[in-house]
Amino acid sequence: MAMGYSDAVMDHFINPRNVGKMENADGVGKVGNARCGDIMKIYLRVEDSIITDVKFNTFGCASAIATSSMATELIKGKPIDDALALTNQAVVDALDGLPSVKIHCSVLAEEAIKAAVKDYYDRHGIEYDPALFAGLGKEHEEE
Ligand SMILES: [Zn+2]
Repeated sequence: MAMGYSDAVMDHFINPRNVGKMENADGVGKVGNARCGDIMKIYLRVEDSIITDVKFNTFGCASAIATSSMATELIKGKPIDDALALTNQAVVDALDGLPSVKIHCSVLAEEAIKAAVKDYYDRHGIEYDPALFAGLGKEHEEE
């Protein structure tokens, strides 16, 4: 198996869930990383503070697509505030792990969701602690 991807990663890469665009989304988040050129866009539909639908559009490596897919599955149907608590580690765990050189791709999924939630808060005039989004928009070139 190339790069030691788990069956769950391969499944979500070959059959990604929630792929597509969304018209009139309530929140949109777009992030990218320079390392493998992944670009991830996430769309949220929110009704009564519940995420009723999620779509994603990702151009990137297998890990980026698999983590986007799993991340959308994990936040669908959840309260919007809970989406902020989703960590890249939770996504990696749900995928039964990722090769260590690919962990930065899962960070992108976490950030895309955070960016979409922030966009939702901004558009709807919902107050939030800016510290929640302090790390957003930074490139992940460390390590
Ligand atoms: Zn990647």
